[in-house]
Amino acid sequence: MFTGGIKQSEFETQDTFESLGLSEPILNVLAEVGFEKPTPIQAGVIPIALAGRDVVGLAQTGSGKTAAFVLPMAEKLYRGDGLRGLILCPTRELALQAESFLQSFGTGDRRLRTACLIGGVKYPPQLEALRNGPDIIVATPGRLLDHVERRTARLESVEVLVLDEADHMLDLGFLPQINRILDRLPKERQTMMFSATMPSSISRLAQLYMKDPETVDLRPETRVADGIEQRLYLVEPDDKKRCLLSLIAEEPGAVLVFVRRKLDADWACRQLQLEGHPVEKIHGDRTQSERVRALSGLRQGEHRILVATDIAARGIDIPVIEHIINFDVPQTVEDYVHRAGRTARGAAGGTVSCIASWTDTEMVRQIESGIGTQLPRFEAPGVPAYQERKKTIKGRERVRRRLR
Ligand code: AMP
Repeated sequence: MFTGGIKQSEFETQDTFESLGLSEPILNVLAEVGFEKPTPIQAGVIPIALAGRDVVGLAQTGSGKTAAFVLPMAEKLYRGDGLRGLILCPTRELALQAESFLQSFGTGDRRLRTACLIGGVKYPPQLEALRNGPDIIVATPGRLLDHVERRTARLESVEVLVLDEADHMLDLGFLPQINRILDRLPKERQTMMFSATMPSSISRLAQLYMKDPETVDLRPETRVADGIEQRLYLVEPDDKKRCLLSLIAEEPGAVLVFVRRKLDADWACRQLQLEGHPVEKIHGDRTQSERVRALSGLRQGEHRILVATDIAARGIDIPVIEHIINFDVPQTVEDYVHRAGRTARGAAGGTVSCIASWTDTEMVRQIESGIGTQLPRFEAPGVPAYQERKKTIKGRERVRRRLR
């Protein structure tokens, strides 16, 4: 259960589990399972939840949100006090994951008894679990409502409610069941809601059923600042270099060129040098001092072009950068937005150009849908644009022929 998922480096925060207010027994379990630091959603939600407040956590699967609600529950609830906790999940898998987390974190008299009420499973074991006096029910809405209506489960004593992946539950059409369940819960309770998105249906749910909730918003940034002009250059794969050189020749200002891999950074830097451009590069294999030199050189105008990989460019804040060129299309919407954010720092505007070929069609589509706008098509001087539909098919045929 504790395998997979999170890359620690991506999610690390400055906080420690101790600083979030968790107690010794739980800290010990965390150390045992190898959770070294809280993820951002955990760091945001846990202190609010421990203070007894309602909280809306906006975060995706894989962000560590299960522990964000399980840890405060394990902290607050004791074994044998009767049913005090309810976790509603959209799927059996999530319900089982939450249950197994709960069982790991309760120790001693906090070893909580759970009943997992999910659809597609026989009733007798669930009835048995309910008869055993669970401290927490973990359930999918349909099956829980069945039990409530047959009076095999009673919810009058619930003090802590979790709605996990609320947007997913609404997508699955669970809203009527959720409404009926929530209407049966005591008004005096703590509610934690988690969702990857915040459509109006979710805000309405929060308004109806939560008390002055605090929001912890860790949705990936999908907004490109207004002052940034976005351009898409669609070219043949073999014309990407020509397109890059043409764009660089066209404008005099400082340029940051993004590439996917370290090797590509070395290659692009060399190509630009061969054309006589003052250029530097940063990527994961460069030492800290080389990196610092490359950045300060750009800042001071010693070279006007910097080639970078995503990781090396994280957090770069150099106001002189006027133009971002994505020589390789970013692999996520988040990376696109992050790259775009390296220009137009401060008040000035900036330009973000994306050089794409037909192999990038799907990623371009995802970026456009992620940022909610179509990227305006441009043509670089001297570099023919390909006709999106026709050439796409031709190109694919050519690759197929090459592969044969
Ligand atoms: P979730 O988003 O809750 O589905 O969690 C995703 C994965 O991250 C699970 O496999 C967890 O075991 C793991 N995980 C959660 N919190 C941490 C943490 N603080 N450190 C390391 N791994 C974690």
